[in-house]
Amino acid sequence: MEFSIMKVCSITGLFVYFFIGKQCFMWVWPDKIEEKQCFFVVSLYLAHLITYTIVNAFYFACYQSKSKYISQAKIEQKPWPWDGKESKVWQEMKRLFWKNVLINQFIMVGVAYAASCIKLDTRFDQSFPTVFEISWQIMVFGIIEDVLFYFSHRLLHTPYFYGKVHKVHHIYNITVSWSAEFAHPLEYILGNLIPVISGPILLGSQTHMITVLVFVGLATHKTLSDHSGFNFEWDVYQYLPLTTHSEFHSKHHSLNTGNYSSTFTYLDDLLGTTIKK
Ligand SMILES: [Zn+2]
Ligand SMILES: [Zn+2]
Repeated sequence: MEFSIMKVCSITGLFVYFFIGKQCFMWVWPDKIEEKQCFFVVSLYLAHLITYTIVNAFYFACYQSKSKYISQAKIEQKPWPWDGKESKVWQEMKRLFWKNVLINQFIMVGVAYAASCIKLDTRFDQSFPTVFEISWQIMVFGIIEDVLFYFSHRLLHTPYFYGKVHKVHHIYNITVSWSAEFAHPLEYILGNLIPVISGPILLGSQTHMITVLVFVGLATHKTLSDHSGFNFEWDVYQYLPLTTHSEFHSKHHSLNTGNYSSTFTYLDDLLGTTIKK
């Protein structure tokens, strides 16, 4: 991997995020949590909502910007969905967006609650995780998420499920950040929520709730970044080995096939589904 100051800063920034995230949670962490299930569901919901809002607001500002630096980072040479505002597709996207966001809120709470009913051994006490513990556990969560996402995504590309379910997400031929979670409810459960929640549930008492919240923040940021339509030089995912990034997923939307993984590239490589261009 070629050395550059931007790569070093970008990768360092990821670990700084782990450290600052952990410190912020530690400062406000309650001494005793009686209602663990309620705390689990509400904190997961808020970690996602806050990250989703901040990251989308950032990309929204980028889409509004006339800056040459920002426009040069655009991946596809196609117009954004709103260029040509009279287009019926864009009007339909806008109409469906808020409905989709609203439905997703209920689904997310439902899946988090269901997961906590199946198994909830996660640590909520003062045995706070180290940055090392957060790092290796997030790697494990990412591997589990990626395997579940890859195979559910392949299933969603079979003719039956594509037509009935996955076509909704692929309405965005050129992606924008908020298209990341624009999906049929079945896809949102199968491809987005279950893969993310499975790692924390499987690791059980080995993992602390702070690690889970830091992971949810990162996973939300990654999917929005991967759908942003931009490849900024500071985006860390392009510098991590075997890791997917915005260009990788942008090709998937552009061609409607290949590059099925969400986090790592090795499954596409092993199973011959990487887009080679
Ligand atoms: Zn797809
Ligand atoms: Zn997508």
